[in-house]
Amino acid sequence: MFDLKSPIDKLYLVGPARAKLLKHLGIETLEDLLFYLPRAHHDLSTITEVSALEPEKFSNVKARIVSVKSFRTRIRRITLTTATVEDETGQVNCVWFNQPYLQKTLKAGEVFIFSGKVTLSKGKHQMQNPVYEQEKTEQVHTARLVPFYRLTASLTQKTLRTIIKTYLDKAHVPEYLPASILSQEKFLDEDRAIKSFHFPNDWGELRRAQKRLAFDEIFLTQLRVLRYKKMRQERKSHQVRDRDDVLPGKIGSLPFELTGSQDSALKEILDDLSRPYPANRLLEGDVGSGKTIIAALAMWLAAKNGLQAVLLAPTEVLAQQHYLSLLKLFLNDGMDLGLVTSSQTRLNGNPVSKDTVLAHIETGLTRLVIGTHALLDKKVKFKKLALVVIDEQHRFGVQQRSALKQHSNAHLLTMSATPIPRTLALTLYGDLDISILSELPKGRVKITTELVAEDKRDLTYQFIEREIKAGRQAFVICPLIEESDTLGVKSAQAEFKKLSETTFPHLRIGLLHGKMKPADKEEVMRKFKDGETDILVSTSVVEVGVDVPNATVMMIEGSERFGLAQLHQFRGRVGRSTYQSHCFMFSDDPKAHDNQRLTAMVQSSNGFELAQKDLQIRGSGDLYGTTQSGYGFKVATLSNLEAVQRSKGYAQDILDNDFEMKKFPLLRGKVMAEPEIHLE
Ligand code: ADP
Ligand code: MG
Repeated sequence: MFDLKSPIDKLYLVGPARAKLLKHLGIETLEDLLFYLPRAHHDLSTITEVSALEPEKFSNVKARIVSVKSFRTRIRRITLTTATVEDETGQVNCVWFNQPYLQKTLKAGEVFIFSGKVTLSKGKHQMQNPVYEQEKTEQVHTARLVPFYRLTASLTQKTLRTIIKTYLDKAHVPEYLPASILSQEKFLDEDRAIKSFHFPNDWGELRRAQKRLAFDEIFLTQLRVLRYKKMRQERKSHQVRDRDDVLPGKIGSLPFELTGSQDSALKEILDDLSRPYPANRLLEGDVGSGKTIIAALAMWLAAKNGLQAVLLAPTEVLAQQHYLSLLKLFLNDGMDLGLVTSSQTRLNGNPVSKDTVLAHIETGLTRLVIGTHALLDKKVKFKKLALVVIDEQHRFGVQQRSALKQHSNAHLLTMSATPIPRTLALTLYGDLDISILSELPKGRVKITTELVAEDKRDLTYQFIEREIKAGRQAFVICPLIEESDTLGVKSAQAEFKKLSETTFPHLRIGLLHGKMKPADKEEVMRKFKDGETDILVSTSVVEVGVDVPNATVMMIEGSERFGLAQLHQFRGRVGRSTYQSHCFMFSDDPKAHDNQRLTAMVQSSNGFELAQKDLQIRGSGDLYGTTQSGYGFKVATLSNLEAVQRSKGYAQDILDNDFEMKKFPLLRGKVMAEPEIHLE
């Protein structure tokens, strides 16, 4: 027997090895399995006659097996299984590699559906490794709208599809929406919607299922948001008073003038901080718009009020960078500044024992703390924590977000360069206030962006050389080249060797990658920041936040391997001063000039435009959610957002009458299943 909460290890068809793979995909229970939705459907419903097959086309044939044989090839020593199959119009060969057991499955005389790509072999049509399925059973893998899932390691579509289909047939997913909503919206019920989303009979059915599941997501979000908002406003936070006596002086002592939008963002934030309940604000601004200084000033003011503030960065490199710049910024203010990451702890720049820093934080002696999520460890206790700032918030995982719960009485300021359209954010994330930095600091020159052909590589190196002679610096980013090298370490090492031994033997070159010890990373970053190295060869670890204003060249190798948001972030590492900056993208792909992401980069330098472009390019149709695009929904897409207002109304109604949702226990369970703190 099983129910939705049954662990997958216990399920028939799964077993320990597959359970492990499924867990990689985040599937722990039967419920997770059923809710593991396809990322696409392929329409394989058309059956092609054998005589009408065409090379290179993905086709289905329905054919009787004439003969099957298996043999080992002499040279490459692989097992080939070939089947000759026929329908009324002709015969075609199917070939499989290393699947000798097929001889038992494919019996002469039986009718199967074969689905796969047609190739030409010695002038004859052939299907290579086609998916096969008996015609007399219900079609799961062929001859229908076939679901495709995100996979891992050795798990195949066929295996996962079979497991999911088996349990969809056995299980019943209970309805949890109040009946009134269901009837008013004329929705499919939950069970039907889930089943149809996996195995729809036609596109229309898929669309109806999508609509229902998208509503679920939006509605649950609304309930969480509205509940959180109410609970937040009932909590008590420390009040940070605006100190007119000190703040203007501090701002005046900065090496630059704040931009108009920095000014207004700061005002909005200080206004939040002066309230007696915790703020929840997002500071949004394109790369290089100057978010850090605004957060730093708010933190500074909290410290001046005798309170504590903490800044969390998603990577060690970034935490260190923030630490150094805040040290510089607050040098003469006599404020203790602590750094806490998983590998090092410091006080006012000096390495100290972890116990010492933690003790200082606990007694309140250290008011300003910077670090990675190591700071969210329960062992780190604050005396009077008033403000938590999270830099690049989209980089923090769910676990880390929920670890924030312990500080839910602190004001929360998150920062992000990922643009969320304001109207969307306000309707959807009703509990979030937003400040936007809409302009870049004065004097910035537009970065030139070029997709460079391989034969111009030497010219580019000469250009870099001239920039360095003129006192500037350059980044060279290396991609992941092989699956096994998940951090791109190998390619960065190889590039480093090439550049320092052959291309630029006379220049000072640094190497940075994720496998280095934190202290070494920091030393490499420090040297680059202080101008002691000319070129920094790096993996994508410098993707977010790194700030070296003197660098003017960003050279990206294998650029087709990066996502658009990532490329834009890389480019944002330069153009942080008044010097003209340049982004050079190289590509191993001869068709790179057709690559839409790369052309988009050349055409636009505006993060907002690029985010929209990215959505278009991914073109996930309109059915498969926005997880990848930063809106964080598995099913809902922008076109479902008309449901936001209605779902808000329903959610408000329920909460007004029954805040704890006692009348709807299943609904309550779903709402509570996710952390309350809502950052996006
Ligand atoms: P991001 O918004 O990408 O986090 P940063 O906060 O790292 O950007 O700021 C980018 C650079 O711009 C930093 O070197 C910072 O000191 C500088 N900066 C910030 N505000 C201004 C300003 N108003 N005028 C000039 N430079 C500024
Ligand atoms: Mg930043």
